[in-house]
Amino acid sequence: MTRLIIAIDGPSGAGKGTLARRLAQALGCRHVDTGAMYRAVAWKALQEGLTLDNEPALALLADRAVFGQEAGNITIDGHDVSRAIRTPEMDQSAARVARLAAVRAVLVARQRAMGQGGGVVMEGRDIGTVVFPGADVKVYLDASAEERARRRAADDAHTGGRQAGVDRLRSQMAARDESDTTRAVAPLQMAADAVYLDTTRLDAEQVFERVLRLVEERKRASSSGD
Ligand code: C5P
Repeated sequence: MTRLIIAIDGPSGAGKGTLARRLAQALGCRHVDTGAMYRAVAWKALQEGLTLDNEPALALLADRAVFGQEAGNITIDGHDVSRAIRTPEMDQSAARVARLAAVRAVLVARQRAMGQGGGVVMEGRDIGTVVFPGADVKVYLDASAEERARRRAADDAHTGGRQAGVDRLRSQMAARDESDTTRAVAPLQMAADAVYLDTTRLDAEQVFERVLRLVEERKRASSSGD
């Protein structure tokens, strides 16, 4: 049985998390949410009173941290940060940390180690371009800015049940997209060989079905020696 590496990239709110979770479950693969790692590093740095531009200290922290992602719970050094890292403040803090080359170098190396040997669905911004440019399946998920903000507003895990205005979320997401696509190191971009999927008018089930079909095709091609 082929142990595939499946890379899911795209901007926030495009549906990466939902898709990656379902795919991993259906395929019996490990799910790695790399955004959660940047978020957890930012959280821990703030706990320790570090400023988010202290590149060497943040890289050291990222290198020494013990990350856990089991049953949907995110931990760093034994602290369950599943909820704490999904706030608007942490959205911005994670994006700041993600601009630091030294932190990226450490996390990319750790993500490669996690995916080594395959059997993984990894989601993020640079999986198909930097972390696993040789991934077996690469999907770039997108959706209109309006739809992405609408999904975020409806996502309790992210709003903590608080009312969040779609317009406000939309402008916060636009700022983060701008930071993610224009940063010097590993900016968000689609890999040349990724499959682009606009999910604006698709529900989670339709997205899952389409990507599962892609994975099945890929498996057939690799078992027939293609
Ligand atoms: O995916 P999520 O919204 O949780 O990611 C939080 C932030 O982490 C992103 O806005 C981005 O700046 C950063 N990130 C990244 N590379 C990844 C995953 C996330 O730069 N592979």
